Amino acid sequence: MNDDTCSHGDEPLYYHCCAGIGTEPAGVHALVIGVSRYERHPDSDRCWEELMGAAAGAANFARFLVTNFRDPDQARLRTVRVLLAPAEGEEKHIQVSGPWQPADYDSVGDAIDAWVKDADSHYGNLAVMYVSGHGVITKTGAQWAFLGEAGRVDSRYRYAINLYGIRERMRMVKARANLYVFDCCARVDDQVPEWHGEQGVGWADRSPGDKAIREKEVVISARNGTQNYMINAVDATLMSWALVGRAEDDASRYLLCTAGEFVDRGQPEVPGRDPEERVYAVTTSRLRSKLLPLMRDLKPGAQLGGEEPTIHPLVEKAVLTCPYPLPKFRIEIVASQSELYGILAVQLLTKEGHDTGLGGQIGKSIELTIYAGLYDLEVTPSASSSILGRTFDLDVDRDKVVGLRLAANGQLRIVRGASSI
Ligand SMILES: [Zn+2]
Repeated sequence: MNDDTCSHGDEPLYYHCCAGIGTEPAGVHALVIGVSRYERHPDSDRCWEELMGAAAGAANFARFLVTNFRDPDQARLRTVRVLLAPAEGEEKHIQVSGPWQPADYDSVGDAIDAWVKDADSHYGNLAVMYVSGHGVITKTGAQWAFLGEAGRVDSRYRYAINLYGIRERMRMVKARANLYVFDCCARVDDQVPEWHGEQGVGWADRSPGDKAIREKEVVISARNGTQNYMINAVDATLMSWALVGRAEDDASRYLLCTAGEFVDRGQPEVPGRDPEERVYAVTTSRLRSKLLPLMRDLKPGAQLGGEEPTIHPLVEKAVLTCPYPLPKFRIEIVASQSELYGILAVQLLTKEGHDTGLGGQIGKSIELTIYAGLYDLEVTPSASSSILGRTFDLDVDRDKVVGLRLAANGQLRIVRGASSI
């Protein structure tokens, strides 16, 4: 299956596809970690609660990556590393389709190093990291996820994943973008090391060298000072449920497949960039509106102040995932004036001008179900009509989802559109 160029050897990857990497070197490289089981401290009063569901949620996220995730730039999924520490009795909720490793200090450290190396292999790469478990996020920017060993020691940050350190480290690698999901408790903790703490696993003290520091990252994490997202839900976590669904669910209905909308790709003033170019992207407002009702209803915990890291795209419209399959939307095109009834035919063309086979004669209206995307709308009056050269109103009410451009000399009013998802 794999090329001579593949360097993964016998590493136990959950998903691995290096085939064709010679001709198509850009890829998606994912690291998925879920810690439900925490070791016991000798002083039993200080034991950490087990987080039934964290490992299962991570397994669900890995499944989503393999079955539903699509990179908007069409980079292929190349590697998924999965490290789990299930709680007792949790195994039955964990559905995996590939080998996973124990989420212990040594394995996680090695996996992070290997993942960073993969992410650094090409400028077209997308790096994805999902972590669930006990964690802490503070107003000073500390971001930690605790491994199981942290439960039994006094110096627990020694056995934590230094998420801030990893983000800093990843800014120096070639990958064009990073997506982080920190599915952690984000607890209030007054004994947290400073954000620049160089403890824990994942941190690498190295200079940027001559590589550009990249800013393209999206962080999805719990809110400052809340414990609401990382809920002990037995067969998943609340956040993983909202993002990708549970094993028995249809992942295409969930947040990472439905939260997107079409947005302008970049600033119009950027030279050489088509200001009308739009991409399917996940925005902050869209994510919030699409959260599970259960998550919306949860009361936030005490605010620590400072910046809320709920959704933290340094690039405001950073792209997360391309929906697969593309969502379909029902639109209704209505002729705004009754004298137009029956004398207009509309046809949807692709952006490149190819016929989609969609369209028809408009009576009072016509309803179409179309994939999200950009279309040209060609309007043809019947031969006997005398409306050539006239214009009519156009109002695309779902222009964030279905981009319609009018190609012909007539204009139609689109008054209603409904999502089918
Ligand atoms: Zn490989």
